Amino acid sequence: MSSAGQLSRRSLLQTGIAALAAGTLAETTVAPAYAAAPDLAKHPWIDAHSHVWSPDTDRWPLEKGQTKADLKPASFTPEELLAQAHPVQVGRVVLIQHHIYHGWNNTYLTDCAAAHPGAFAVVGMLDDQQPGTREKMDALLKQRVTGFRITPFIYKDKWLASEGMQAMWRRGAETGQAMCCLLNPEDLDGVAALCQKYPQTRVVIDHFARIGADGVVRDADVKKLCDLAKHKQAHVKISAYYALGKKQPPYLDLIPMIRRVLEAYGPERTMWASDAPYQIEGNNTYQASIDLVKNKLDFLSAGDREWLLRKTAEKVFFF
Ligand SMILES: [Zn+2]
Repeated sequence: MSSAGQLSRRSLLQTGIAALAAGTLAETTVAPAYAAAPDLAKHPWIDAHSHVWSPDTDRWPLEKGQTKADLKPASFTPEELLAQAHPVQVGRVVLIQHHIYHGWNNTYLTDCAAAHPGAFAVVGMLDDQQPGTREKMDALLKQRVTGFRITPFIYKDKWLASEGMQAMWRRGAETGQAMCCLLNPEDLDGVAALCQKYPQTRVVIDHFARIGADGVVRDADVKKLCDLAKHKQAHVKISAYYALGKKQPPYLDLIPMIRRVLEAYGPERTMWASDAPYQIEGNNTYQASIDLVKNKLDFLSAGDREWLLRKTAEKVFFF
């Protein structure tokens, strides 16, 4: 962490102490570093994918001149996230870098993880076109960054080609940091090629590879996603129900796809995630998301459910 980062941590801590004294802790933007450890007996589940951002854009500036008015919703802090998560027994969350708001700067997420020890792991982002990805990965690992979001949405068809990207896959095999892919079904071929080249690198496919984003769950796409399971380090997030298929709770139309993913990957390589705050807009709710996996998949054993709701994400991100 830079000295500026340390300074901001210190001022954060002071803010926290003042707030605690005033009895207004819940209103602070980020809780102090002595936020209570998560109560894993009371809140055993893990949400493997959510975003957070702060309305305090002076402390955590936004990319490309965006202002507070660009944030939608206007605020989604760790406290607001945990207020959604705790009532449904989710105590830990994997925080995913939001490239549009924060670019390649992972500071907000690492600050959140530092302020809530044990509650958050971070999936950050690195510009693979810049030198030093390996060293940056090592430094970020110390700040609880246990995965990296990679996506063709930035450098398009060259997204996997750079030396920096190859270095990330190589180093990930050694550190355990996962390559977390936000992509469409047609991008899975490129991922399969790198899985072949770097078989020890953990890979996590976000949101079923966005199958069903246009409303149609195509059999050929599901097959392509399931074919990737032959690579033993490939994992899938079953998530973002608000964005896939009919996009309406209780999301029962997604069950056949979930079932096929489970048959291919097994529960040990599949994890539930919400994709909050996007999952909590309109008719969609955080509770409806977890409810699908907790209560609507009658073909699961209790043990399977433990993997989907906790153990897979714990293995991949909380180490
Ligand atoms: Zn997301």
